[in-house]
Amino acid sequence: MAKHAFQTEIKQLLNLMIHSLYSDRDIFLRELISNGSDAMDKLQYLALTDEKYKEFSGGGKIEITYDKEAKTIKISDMGIGMNDEDMVESLGTIAKSGTKSFIEKLTGDAKKDSNLIGQFGVGFYSAFMVASKISVLSRKAGEEKAFIWESDGSGEYEIKEGTKESHGTEITLYIKDDATEYLSQWKLESIVKKYSDHIPFPIFMQKEKYLEGGKTEISIEQINKASALWRRPKNEITEDEYNEFYSAISHDNEKPLLYIHTKAEGTHEYTTLFYIPQKAPIDMYRVDYQAGVKLYVKRVFITDNDKELMPTYMRFVRGIIDAEDLPLNVSREILQQNRLLSTIKSASTKKILGELKKLAKADKEKYEKFFKEFGRALKEGLYSDYANRDDLLELMRFKSTVAEGFVSLEEYETRMVEGQKAVYYIVGDDENLAKNSPILEGFKAKNIEVLVLDDEIDNIVMPSVHKYKDFEIKNVSNSLNDEILKAQIDEATLERLKPLVEKLTAALGDKVKEVRVSGSLKDSAACVVFDDAHMTAQLKEMLKAMGQEAPESKPTFEINPTHPIISKLEAADDAKVAEIGELLFDLSVMLSGESLKDPSAFAKKVSSILVNSL
Ligand code: ADP
Repeated sequence: MAKHAFQTEIKQLLNLMIHSLYSDRDIFLRELISNGSDAMDKLQYLALTDEKYKEFSGGGKIEITYDKEAKTIKISDMGIGMNDEDMVESLGTIAKSGTKSFIEKLTGDAKKDSNLIGQFGVGFYSAFMVASKISVLSRKAGEEKAFIWESDGSGEYEIKEGTKESHGTEITLYIKDDATEYLSQWKLESIVKKYSDHIPFPIFMQKEKYLEGGKTEISIEQINKASALWRRPKNEITEDEYNEFYSAISHDNEKPLLYIHTKAEGTHEYTTLFYIPQKAPIDMYRVDYQAGVKLYVKRVFITDNDKELMPTYMRFVRGIIDAEDLPLNVSREILQQNRLLSTIKSASTKKILGELKKLAKADKEKYEKFFKEFGRALKEGLYSDYANRDDLLELMRFKSTVAEGFVSLEEYETRMVEGQKAVYYIVGDDENLAKNSPILEGFKAKNIEVLVLDDEIDNIVMPSVHKYKDFEIKNVSNSLNDEILKAQIDEATLERLKPLVEKLTAALGDKVKEVRVSGSLKDSAACVVFDDAHMTAQLKEMLKAMGQEAPESKPTFEINPTHPIISKLEAADDAKVAEIGELLFDLSVMLSGESLKDPSAFAKKVSSILVNSL
């Protein structure tokens, strides 16, 4: 008999469960059934792969009973079970590092919050929404002793020895007064049907039959289909069934955005059922994200923890892969190098990309919704998945100087001007600043559309994508000398401006790579142009946060020969050229989205010019 204190995070979580998450209480049953099913999956896997567990092979079921008088619900399984140490580890601490961020994400909005439950393995605790006390009696497969874990959901739990005839876990919920609606055959059965119809084990429930003379007869009957949904022919599965299966495997209460059910026959036989959620899973950008796809072999569960089943950039995909031609007792290590699995992986990737392309054509709005949620992940594929780069490029959406919302490269192509040989983009942390950059003046004058990339990952990804069809993909900074853009600057002008360029070069010193006469500026007097290796301020911040030094890069300073400031500078003395030149340079740096190295020097220059002009 030992008392234990819950880990702090669990206390916070329990507090939320008990006090604020009252909307979707039904899910507690889904969570407990799913735990039981997982525990049986684990035992079945051991029975297949480990001699010691051979006696446990085959079978497995979940049983649900309730007692209206005692106000209890019992859920039992024939899974792997837990000993006292397991209980401390699994039901007293949250091992997963995502939990803190889970708790931070809680909004206080009961509906949204209850949606998050389960995504971080807090499923078991959801039972405290309906129970004032929970008792878990469990015996681990292959061990003699049984243990009881008990808690009322306040700060502590207790573990003591108990007795149990066979392996597995039996959970008793002492139902709260405001949750007695769950002490009903109809209610429990409808929740099971809704969420757990297709878990691969039978679920038995106590059924009452009313006899004459007020007597009742109690029987135990199977209430779920217990058939692997994905094995049934597509045309026999309703959309509701697909959606319900999704919520059972994903713990997501929202409907999926898309499902893709494929049966492959021939040399390799396998079935896949993939789902794309509406919302990105909250651990999507964590290194320790949870794999979303489960592997089965001939309907037997093998693993839900193999991130290699899908490309990393598709880590938001949920679902199952069920392969025919793998030996059941294949070890998890061998799985990694398995040929069939890599075939399935690449076929599945292509299939999913293909379905996304179809969606993009058929339903623009829905596709954009998808892209807003998962576009960033797909972009990772641009540099990690060379084989599918063309498909991925087709799926990309960008902001643009021409259209509102998102544009595709296909649309961009239709708007290209005569003689245009490249797709142009500008990079910047701030969409508005980028759109108004002086660098774009030449493009605007020629009606050339420019894609605006303001996502930090764009800066890493886009330079690695050199081509779309036969078009080069180019940063505007590297394109100012492109034939299509260049206004003819006549030799005489260049010759005339030579002394000014020299004076400016001397005045700006090592702040610039070069000073040159621009052929593309229209309204602005000057601009700075960085080359491809340049990092945006945002990217530098990221590097700094990771403890790395961001390399410095120097811009080229371009001046506009037709601008009055430049004409006047031509006639000015050296000191004036230096003063105004530095000021123009600082202004151009600011407009490019960079911050000034020495803002107070800038302020001094401005104020001295103001004094002189008054
Ligand atoms: P999750 O199921 O997402 O891991 P839970 O909080 O629901 O999170 O459960 C925590 C852990 O407790 C499980 O990972 C498992 O190790 C253990 N557990 C829960 N229910 C059972 C059960 N019925 N049989 C065996 N182990 C269980």
